[in-house]
This record gives sequence, structure tokens and C-alpha cells, in this order.
Amino acid sequence: TAGTEILRTEELTKTFGGIVALRNVDLSVERGELHAVIGPNGAGKTTLFNTITGTLPPSSGRVWFDGEDVTDLSQEERPHRGLARSFQSNQLFNDLTVLENVRIVVQTMRSGTFALNVLGDGRSKYREEASDYLERIGLDGQHNTKTKNLSHGDQRRLGIAVALATEPSVLLLDEPTSGMGSTETRETADMIDELRQELGLTILLIEHDMDIVLAMSDRITVLNQGEILATGAPDVIRENEEVQNAYLGGM
Ligand code: ATP
Repeated sequence: TAGTEILRTEELTKTFGGIVALRNVDLSVERGELHAVIGPNGAGKTTLFNTITGTLPPSSGRVWFDGEDVTDLSQEERPHRGLARSFQSNQLFNDLTVLENVRIVVQTMRSGTFALNVLGDGRSKYREEASDYLERIGLDGQHNTKTKNLSHGDQRRLGIAVALATEPSVLLLDEPTSGMGSTETRETADMIDELRQELGLTILLIEHDMDIVLAMSDRITVLNQGEILATGAPDVIRENEEVQNAYLGGM
């Protein structure tokens, strides 16, 4: 149901030696919303994602997902609960095709064992499902392209398709449009909108392009020096004086 919380961080703190990357962050994400996390360089956005996905353990605080405390779950377990993050290009199999990359994850998730060794076996239901994710993200013409031969933007899209193959209820997208020109950026934003509508996804998004953030988000959380400066609807955030100061007029 919409309007209920699906993800929450509770007093999340992460320190690296003397650096406090996150300090007592209470983030609440509601089911079905697109929630953007913005903030200047070094604000803690990536660290927040890393602690939510289990890539890094927090120094203190908890992560709640779908009513359960997942703080101590490994990053491999979280996708099985429905919490996924777009794969980075270094997590893709470069020498395999686009379709194979998605199919490995479909088969691994559905069969419960790592599926690289069964690529040869043509289990068509897995192939069809993988193909469906590729269509959703606009890579359906590239099934047989070797991943290493994809453009930068297409690799980022493939990273989203692979995450979709885990059937997430919450998807974390870390700068999905970085390195893209304006047309490709707009196409990617439209694609994310369609994913939300068609799959009912909740999306937590790190994005530097402020036009995209203001246009797409239901709510925005602003991080600054590891702390939440403000959370609210785009028009509220845009008018917030503290936020404007943190960006030195850059909005
Ligand atoms: P950017 O927009 O530049 O990616 P960010 O908002 O994602 O920045 P983080 O990458 O989370 O910010 O970094 C927050 C702070 O934590 C920074 O001061 C950074 O230098 C520090 N930091 C992040 N990761 C590490 C690490 N592995 N070791 C030491 N310090 C780190």
C-alpha cells in the first residue's frame, strides 16, 4: 500500500578513522515513492547507499526494511528480501553478452544456486524473463552484444536491468545518468518513470542533475556533511534557504 514506510535508517552513523561520513541519519522512504538523496560532494550520499545495501557496516545505528531489522544481513542476502541496487560496470561480466548477464541473475535468484555453469542449457523461461527486463530498459536490440562493447550509457542501463532481475521492491540508483548527454539523460529519466509505474517500484536515487531531481522526485532528502539538512517535496526543498546556502546558490 502507498504511503507506508518501507525503508528506514535509524540514527545511522559511519566513521572512517576521524572522518564522520554519516551522523545520526534518520531517513524514511515510503512505499512507491521516488526519493532522491542530494548533497554537495562528500556529503555522505554514497556512504548512505553502501550502509543501506550492506556493502559497508554502519559504525552505529540500524537499517529497517519492510518492517525488519536488516542491519546485520550480508549484502548478498538483501536482494533476496527485495532490496537491490543497480550493478556497477565492474560487477558485470564483460566477456558475456548482455542477455547472459541478466540471465545469470534471473537463474541464480530463481534456482538458488549461482548459475554461470548452466548458461549452455537453454531454459527458455529464464531467457524470456531476462529478455523482458532488457526490453524495459531499452536494450532489447542488444541481446548478443558483448557487455564490454556497450556504450557507457548502455552499461549503466544494463546495470539497472540486472538489478531488476532480482525482483526488488526497493531499487537504489546511484547516479543513473552520470556521463550521459542531455538526450540520453532524458530517456533514462523516462525509463525510470516507466519502471516505477509498471513495476510499482520504490526508488531511492542519488542524482546530481538538479532538473531531473526536481522533476522526478516525490521527496528529496538533502545531506550535508553527513547530516540530513532537510527532507521534503521538490518545491519545499528548492525554497529552503539552508539548502540554497549549502549549495552556494548552485540550484
Ligand atoms: P560524491 O558526491 O563526491 O560522490 P558523497 O556525497 O557520495 O560524495 P561519500 O562518498 O559518501 O560522499 O563520502 C563522505 C565522506 O566520507 C567524505 O569525506 C569521504 O572522503 C569519506 N569517505 C567515504 N568513503 C571512505 C573510505 N572508504 N575511507 C575513508 N573515507 C571515506
